Order: sequence, then C-alpha cells, then structure tokens
Amino acid sequence: MVSSSKKKRGKQRKAAKNASNSVVLVVKDPSGNGQTEVTKSRCIELIRMGSNTMTEFLSNPDVMNDIDFRKEIADGVVPVILGCLQRCEDETFGGVIASLSSKSTLETPSLWIKALSMLYELESSCRVQIIQNIGQLVKCMCNDTARLFFKSNKHWIESITPFVKFICNILQQTNDSDDDTSKIFDIILQQDSLLASIIQWGFWDEYRPDITKLLETNECTEIVDIGRRLAGSLIMLVNKKEAITIGTTSIISKQHDPNCTISYVEGLMLTLKVTNDMKYLRTAEELIVVTNLVDKGVITEILGFGVNYFVDYDSAELVSNMSAAFLDGTIGTNENPSDTRAAFAIRSGLFDMCFGYIKRFGSVRQSEFQHMGPLFDIIRDIFSIVHEVSLQKKSRKAIRHKKGDIEEMLVLLEDGTSVTGKAKCKELVDMVRCIIDLNGSYCCRCNKSFGNKTDVKQCNGCGCMTYCSEACQKKDWLNGHKLACCKTYTDETAGQFQGRIQPLEVPENERIAESLKNVEINITTIQLKLFLDNSEAILHQARSLDIPLCDCVVLFNLRPCPVKVECKLYTDVYNTPEVRKGFTDTRSRENITCIYTGSFNGGKDQDINASMIDMQRFFPYSWLYFGTDTIDTSNDTTSKRRVVKASSRWKSANKKA
Ligand SMILES: [Zn+2]
Ligand SMILES: [Zn+2]
Repeated sequence: MVSSSKKKRGKQRKAAKNASNSVVLVVKDPSGNGQTEVTKSRCIELIRMGSNTMTEFLSNPDVMNDIDFRKEIADGVVPVILGCLQRCEDETFGGVIASLSSKSTLETPSLWIKALSMLYELESSCRVQIIQNIGQLVKCMCNDTARLFFKSNKHWIESITPFVKFICNILQQTNDSDDDTSKIFDIILQQDSLLASIIQWGFWDEYRPDITKLLETNECTEIVDIGRRLAGSLIMLVNKKEAITIGTTSIISKQHDPNCTISYVEGLMLTLKVTNDMKYLRTAEELIVVTNLVDKGVITEILGFGVNYFVDYDSAELVSNMSAAFLDGTIGTNENPSDTRAAFAIRSGLFDMCFGYIKRFGSVRQSEFQHMGPLFDIIRDIFSIVHEVSLQKKSRKAIRHKKGDIEEMLVLLEDGTSVTGKAKCKELVDMVRCIIDLNGSYCCRCNKSFGNKTDVKQCNGCGCMTYCSEACQKKDWLNGHKLACCKTYTDETAGQFQGRIQPLEVPENERIAESLKNVEINITTIQLKLFLDNSEAILHQARSLDIPLCDCVVLFNLRPCPVKVECKLYTDVYNTPEVRKGFTDTRSRENITCIYTGSFNGGKDQDINASMIDMQRFFPYSWLYFGTDTIDTSNDTTSKRRVVKASSRWKSANKKA
C-alpha cells in the first residue's frame, strides 16, 4: 500500500512540469479513456463543469499532498464548490449540475463535501472563506428529521458521513496555533443547530433507529464515535457560557422528539453505562465542575453509578468530585448550597455512595491508604455541605427518611477497625453522627425525642417552641417563654431575650422567609439537646475561664461539622456597652446563656452573612449537672436547694483550680 502510493505520488510529481502559473497533472481522462494532462486552469474548469473524476480527485490525499498543486488549485475551486453547495436548500442536485454544464458527470454532492474537507485540512489559507460560506450546508445536514440535501433524502444519506468527517476536520484544526482559530471557532459555534447536532450524533446508535437503519453499520459507528469525541473535546475549548449551552443540549433533536428531557450531561452518564469507558465520566465531571449543571436526571445517574460502581479509585474520585460540585451551589455565585438539590441527592443514594467508598477504600492497608488521592477530603466536603443544609426543610426530611439506613451503615463501619482506625475515616464517621444528631427533634422543655411522634404541642404564639406534652408547654411558659414569646430582640432586654437575634428583619422574599422560619424552628428543637450533650465540655471550658456560669455565654456554631461549642465571657460576646448593660440588668443569675448560629437559604445575590441566623436561649445552669428534671418553678424549694448545692460545688471546684 505505502510503496504503491509513494510510487504514484512520484509519478505525479514527475509529471508536473512546473510552469510558472500552470501546474500540470496526469489524471485519468474525464471521459474515462486513458490518461490526460490537466493544467491548473483546466482543472478548475472541470470542477466548474461538474466533472465527477476531477471532483473525486480533489479528495484524494495522494494528489492533495502535492503542495504546489494544492496551492494553485485552491483559490480557483473553493469558490466554485461553495457556490454550488450554497444552493442545497432551494434547488435539486440535478438542477444545479445541469446549470453548470450539459456534460456534467458529477454523481453525488457528497463529493463536493469530501473535496472541501480535504482543501480545508491542507490549505489553511482558504479556511475562513469555507467556514463563512457553509451555512446552508450545515442547515440542511443538521436537520436530521427532514433529512433533505438538495431536496433529496438520498443525497442526505450519501452525504452525512462525509459531512460529519468534514465538521470533525474543521474542529480538529482549531487546535493549531492558527491566528484564525478563534475566529473559526466562533463562527462554528454560532451555528446553533451544528452544536446540537455534534452532541446528538453521539447518541444516534441508542436513540435514532430511524436514521441508523438508513446507514451502513460501519458508517453509523463512525458517526457516533466522531460525535462523542467532538462533543468531549469541545468542552475543553469553550468558555463557561458555551459549556452551559453544550451541557443542557438535549441528546435527541427537538424536531424528532420535542419531549426529550435528557441533557448532554445525563447522556454522558448513559453512554458511560453502555460503554464502560471512563472518558465519558471524565467529560461529565469537567462539565459539571465548570458549569454546576445538573437536573434530577443527572443526579440520579451520577449517584446510581456511584452506588453500584466503586471498584476503581479514579472513578470513585471523579464521581465524588462531581457530587461535591453539584451539591455546592456556591460556584461563581453567592448562593448557598441548595436544600432542594441536597435533599434529592440524599434520597438518591448520596450517603450509600459515600459509605461504599469509605468502606472500600478505607479498609486498604495503611501504606496504600497514605498514597491515596483526595477522595476522603472530597467526601468530607460532601458531608460538610449536607451538614450545612441539614437544618433546612427538605434536606432535614430526606435525612430523616434515610436515618435508619445511615445508622445501620455507621454501625457496620464502626465495627471495622481497619476503617475507623484511620483518622480520616473516623473523622467522616463523626461528621455523619453529627448530622444525624442534629436531625432529631426534641421537646423544648424536657428534651424527650419526638421520634416519629406527630401529636406534638407547638406554641401558638411563636410557632417555634415544640413540646411533648401540655405539661411541658405549661412549665416552659411559666419559666421564661412567657417573657420571650413573639418578642423582638432589643439591647435593653438582652439578658432575658430568647429567640432569634439575627437577622432582625424577616426577609421580604417569601421563599427566603420560609427557609428562615423553618431553620428557626429546627434549631429550637435541638437547642436543649445540644446544651445537655455538651454539658461536660461547657463546664470544663467555664472552669478554665475561671468565671461564674451566669457570666458565660455558650456559643454553639452549627455551621461547621461537627458543631463547635465554645464558652466565652459575656463581655467578649456582647460588644457594645448598651447590650452589656442590658444583659447584666435583665439576666437571671441562675441561668446560663446560649447562642446558636446556623444558616438558612438566603438566596442568590445576597451578602453571604445575610443568610446567618443567631438564636439566644437560656437554661438553668443546674441542668448541666442534673438534667432537666431538677428545676421546675422558682417556688420549688428543692430545686433551689439543688441549685445552691450545684453552685457551691462549682465554687469549690473553682477554688481548687
Ligand atoms: Zn417534654
Ligand atoms: Zn411561643
């Protein structure tokens, strides 16, 4: 093969008597009899006349490798071919070639495409001209429903493979360091139908039996391959806005199926499923990380893959990275992670996937574990994001729905010391424990868990406080909530205010206001639990600060995972003289002050701080020692005695320290 084509080329070169302006070639005579010598002008003439042999000749790489010939010929034939192809929408092929010459022998317009493709590839000087004049060709060939080229289905079918290869050729040349590259790229991308078609070619085998039955099997495979490859490489070249266009493109043309909701991103996951080729996972990952472009279908596919396929490390890392990216709504915006998205991901197996990875890759030998990539850091990011939205309505519900499964998985993991013996894995397990802990809801007065109980008592006034019984509701009302219910925070009453300190104003936007209210209620139902669960830490910290408990403010920061608990002197928390005075004037010396900070969905374009919520609550500090059943009403002498006892114990502990 090689030697014969070399010989041929040699022959042609020998034949070329390089006269200054007319290159002569030896070609088969257009009439089909023997060989004939063709000059440059004759060659252009033959193309203009619609010579089948000559047109076919232009797509012959052996001929076109002759640089001198190519240069001479391109200027003459490119406008001729483009001129013919521009008539493909409105005229028939027969009509066009008849208008060229009565002796035209051209059998199919696909030869023009092949010739053009070859000239485009080899002769960079004509690229811009070609690109600017193929609008009609692109329009006809990209309409895969009408499938009309020169008003004929037959010509469309003949021409689709050369056309796909031509486009592939054009886009591949954009990798050259050509000055015109970006220009060409811009023009090509402006052809909306072309961009969509490139993506859709890659899905013809699965979704377009109407087309594939018209094509040869190998043609079909070739088109599908080129489509997949081109779409993948386009993503590397385009900017974010264009990447979004690509990612959202439907994998089936709208004319064929107006109801198709499968986006390219989801399509990539489907291709991955069929081919098991990880390059589609990489493309999907790049697209999602850049554009944050996911819908429910995409999330389902990603997590479905993540749950069922956790054998190789690289794909685990890719899938985790994609999940972290789509959960984290903050890419390029100030938007907080989306509650809706996180909730859907949790229901679709987010935890199952992460646990699968922790179990699989956390149980490897220590030496192997040390050399592992960032998978566990990515899972930590995922858990952090879930934690951040876990007090919001939908995510909270989704976590509750999965709670049984999650707890079961935690127990399994904790049984395997090969996993939890590694600090990074232990950290992840602790994070999930924290998420589960915050997910419960408890009586605001006695800390009894509601579990699945639905007949809870809610304060009619503020709607935030929730109780297990009327008795608890009554006790809480008499012991402080009466003073707090439906009050707004003021500096003057800082020492007795319970409820939301920040934000002071309810947001105007209804959606944000609802998110705020939900988070407010959810924080309220875990305040007491957090206080009691951390009693030892609180006492320990207060002791090392060496200040009375009534002067302590316990800060519960619910935003990091696990939650941060910190005891501070009130003057370090209240930073103006007014609020300090208000605090000392109005507080009860038997209480300890707690401030809880969380986040709600503050929505787009808002200062990130606008989505923080601060709530204040007091608890008798005796509860740190004895729990909630020790103090009921201020008239109860036993409880008073206990408080005295507790505080004297406290004093003696202070002295010792
Ligand atoms: Zn209760
Ligand atoms: Zn109330």
